[in-house]
Amino acid sequence: MRKGIAFIVSGPSGGGKTTLAKSMLHELDNLRFSVSCTTRKPREGEVDGKDYKFITNEEFENMVQQERFIEHAFVHGNYYGTPVEEFEDAKASGVDLLLDIDVQGASQIKQSYPEAIFCFVMPPTFEILKDRLSRRNGNGDIDIDQRLVRAKEEMAPSVLEQYDFIIINDQLDEALETIHSIIISTRCQSERVLEKIKENL
Ligand code: ADP
Ligand code: 5GP
Repeated sequence: MRKGIAFIVSGPSGGGKTTLAKSMLHELDNLRFSVSCTTRKPREGEVDGKDYKFITNEEFENMVQQERFIEHAFVHGNYYGTPVEEFEDAKASGVDLLLDIDVQGASQIKQSYPEAIFCFVMPPTFEILKDRLSRRNGNGDIDIDQRLVRAKEEMAPSVLEQYDFIIINDQLDEALETIHSIIISTRCQSERVLEKIKENL
């Protein structure tokens, strides 16, 4: 059976990761979202177990102790981590996995799973990023200035060069087409297709 491919999607908060990921999950078969654990409080409309597993600091610390994360990081004042089983289950069952994780987590995964595909989603300008963050922040639950400072660090060339693909999310339909093409082309890489052909012959 083919091994599932892990698509890592990183980028500054407000850059469009969730928007692109939701659309890909709707459009493409055999693609699953990796549900992370976080200590942050749910935003309006977020569903426990679907968007995130919302857990306490204590539960998070226990999972770290028990080595139940393939990566974890402290982002914008909260802990986030990818449970081992999310990753291993998808890989073993041949399902591709979409992981929305920050640059620290992506760099940890690059050490342990260098074969993953690393995609960076960024806005065309800081002004546009600020505008998108402000529009999304209807209930004022985030510190936009803090996220903009962090965005500058995340978009440094030394960080970006770790990624296989950079998607500039200006016009949404073009960005969707780009990420769609990345997933489809990766699935067609000869070594992945050859595995299947050999099995069938
Ligand atoms: P992230 O998951 O990276 O934090 P989101 O997907 O939540 O970002 O996008 C942030 C906000 O910007 C949302 O309100 C979303 O609807 C909007 N948005 C995303 N992409 C675009 C785009 N290409 N043009 C205009 N608005 C966008
Ligand atoms: P948000 O709170 O806006 O949903 O996410 C904040 C940041 O946390 C984003 O950069 C997102 O990519 C990142 N994030 C979400 N889940 C994980 C995870 O499991 N691990 C890491 N390292 N970052 C995550």
